[in-house]
Amino acid sequence: MLSVSDALSRLLSNFSSVGMESVSLKEAAGRVLSEEIHSTIDLPLFTNSSMDGFALRAEDVEEANPANPITLTIVEDIPAGKGPEIEISKYQAARIMTGAPIPDGADAVIPIEDTDQYDPISRVDPALPKKINVHRSVKTGDYVRRRGEDVAIDEVVLKSQSRLRPQDLGLLAMLGIPEIPVYRLPRIVILSTGDELVPVEEQLQFGKIHDSNAYTLSALIFRDGGLPVYLGIVPDQEQAVRDFLVKALENNADLILSSAGVSVGAFDFVRSVVQSDGNLDFWKVNMRPGKPLAFGDYQGVPFIGLPGNPVSAFVGYEVFVRPAIMRLAGLRDALRDRTKVKLTEDIISDGRESYLRAIVTIENGEAVARLTGHQGSGNLLSLVQANSLLILPAGSKSLSTGSYVDAWLLDDA
Ligand code: AMP
Ligand code: MG
Repeated sequence: MLSVSDALSRLLSNFSSVGMESVSLKEAAGRVLSEEIHSTIDLPLFTNSSMDGFALRAEDVEEANPANPITLTIVEDIPAGKGPEIEISKYQAARIMTGAPIPDGADAVIPIEDTDQYDPISRVDPALPKKINVHRSVKTGDYVRRRGEDVAIDEVVLKSQSRLRPQDLGLLAMLGIPEIPVYRLPRIVILSTGDELVPVEEQLQFGKIHDSNAYTLSALIFRDGGLPVYLGIVPDQEQAVRDFLVKALENNADLILSSAGVSVGAFDFVRSVVQSDGNLDFWKVNMRPGKPLAFGDYQGVPFIGLPGNPVSAFVGYEVFVRPAIMRLAGLRDALRDRTKVKLTEDIISDGRESYLRAIVTIENGEAVARLTGHQGSGNLLSLVQANSLLILPAGSKSLSTGSYVDAWLLDDA
């Protein structure tokens, strides 16, 4: 049987980024940049004050101290947003607010708190004073933000193939870039198969269950940079399976993702239909949970068939689908980091590469793992209560308390 790593590299060799498009900055949150971004301006664009105070010449106040203040004549008022008009000469100053341009002649700012204009109760007197007393010296450049000190023109400010974070959007706005080159969102068409499934809105008759995989998978796809397109529940009939696969093509799927119907049950038609109408590369992987996991293509569109059990579908997604979607989305290959964790109990395995639900906490500075509840692959609560998957390597059948295993910490994706 195929090992997880062989299956993964076989599968991933079929995935590369889908096309590009341009979106407005308003819609760009979380999208993946398809080109690096160069700054076309300096930031700040003009030298400005970092404090509310007075722009002056540092040399004029060199000798200032509280006992011997130096008096300066105010020649202009410069609120934020206004261009200064008067050059500052010897023993002159301009009242200036944070973010306002430094006038010619001035080379420093004295904060209002260090002058006789500071009133801690009413704070700033809105009337422009004719003269001020400065209570301390400043150095050239004090409280001045120089043009280009943050970003220089032509500098690469954002790399491609990364998702745009909130602060990235802020920088793009500062640079005046309203249209952003991004990868198109890959369309991941989801099919839930099985006669026992009913939509969450409907009441359950005996023997039926709600389709939960569609919800888990949609949210995972969205998290990983894809666009989930849910086509609904596919009955366990060969023709119905075929019709839904055709519908997936009509929906411009970049990847068809089904759950259930790929095992050896009498009504598992998904695998056989893909095999007859398309190509099946593999349908079994040496892992637990999630051994029946199919990969191939349906008329040229990649197809991944996850197992039906909710935990198996989740694990299969994490192992195979997440990296595939990240490639389609244009993201740099980034396998999840593994963290070494210490076991607090003995664990028996069957020799397959195993993914076990656990809660990892830090105790005495060390990451320790406890399994959550019953590990049956249909038991979703044990996954809900977990924050990690422990990864037991293939070949290991038992691990004892105190030994170390790799874990994926799921909650800080
Ligand atoms: P199968 O792979 O069709 O043998 O299904 C394996 C198990 O997963 C069965 O218990 C199914 O009822 C269950 N199952 C299949 N699809 C879903 C789904 N979409 N949501 C929740 N459970 C499912
Ligand atoms: Mg079934």
